[in-house]
Amino acid sequence: MPRHCLAVLALLSLVACDQSRVIQAPAPPPNPLPGVKLSVDELKAQMFHVSAGKRLKGSWPNGARVAVGLSFDVDNATATLSTGNLDYEILSRGEYGAVDGLPRILRMLDRQQVPSSFFIPAASAVLHPGMIKEIQASKLAHEIGVHGWIHERLPLLNDEKEEQRLLDLSIETLQKMTGRRPVGYRAPSWKFSKWTMGQVKAAGFLYDSSLMASDDPYELLLDGKPTGVVELPIERILDDAPYFGGNADGSMPSVSAVYEVFQSEFDVAYEEGGLYLLTMHPHFIGHRSRVALLERLVQYMKRKPGVWFATHEQIALHVKPLIGN
Ligand SMILES: [Zn+2]
Repeated sequence: MPRHCLAVLALLSLVACDQSRVIQAPAPPPNPLPGVKLSVDELKAQMFHVSAGKRLKGSWPNGARVAVGLSFDVDNATATLSTGNLDYEILSRGEYGAVDGLPRILRMLDRQQVPSSFFIPAASAVLHPGMIKEIQASKLAHEIGVHGWIHERLPLLNDEKEEQRLLDLSIETLQKMTGRRPVGYRAPSWKFSKWTMGQVKAAGFLYDSSLMASDDPYELLLDGKPTGVVELPIERILDDAPYFGGNADGSMPSVSAVYEVFQSEFDVAYEEGGLYLLTMHPHFIGHRSRVALLERLVQYMKRKPGVWFATHEQIALHVKPLIGN
């Protein structure tokens, strides 16, 4: 057969193939509003699978007016690596956390004498083992807590056994590297799967810090039953990521705008005698102008009487007795 006839045949078969694709019935889209079909009992089961129990708000030690917990999620490049994305521009942006961000934060905390909590994906610690040594070199007894293995998004992982394996591996790895079993848990991206609460309770964690049903500490309930696990609530507006991370990176015109939000939240926490908890990331807040912002905020807080700067563990230990029997 002449060559041009073969080409025509090949073209025809391609067209036929394309047509068969068009003819195939498209899969029905998933129901975007499954909640509208649920009974009240079904809604209750979903809403209260993990929820807020007893509020744990009492007095702070030594007559303090407010408890301040600074936390740093040392994700670096792990969230990117977990997705298999090998874009080295993005990976190096994460690497900044280990190279310059964390050391600058630690120097500032030493200057201001503020003990803090560091939640580290275990793979992040393994990739840059010097970080644990730097954190532990401070005399402030900073806390190190669990933040997944490689910042895996648990609802995306969607696998109970694999989630348990990664949790066990994270605890074991951090315990080996720090010499101490961690007592605090923060879910990667704060996202729970339907198994996370059960696994966190079974692992014996003192507290979780991934949820936000209140400004102040509370006891977590699992399917309506008390767990004995303290929640130290986080909040999007008290997180550096929405302002400096992801798509916002570089678009914030002035760090002062972030300072204003952080300071006014602190002022009301102080007024109410509550908890003030910040979530930050060395690869975001660790930049020069941003650590300066944080130091300015710490100095502002220190000028007020009765501010208790503590690790999350110290805060959780203090409120835990309020759970009672
Ligand atoms: Zn994180």
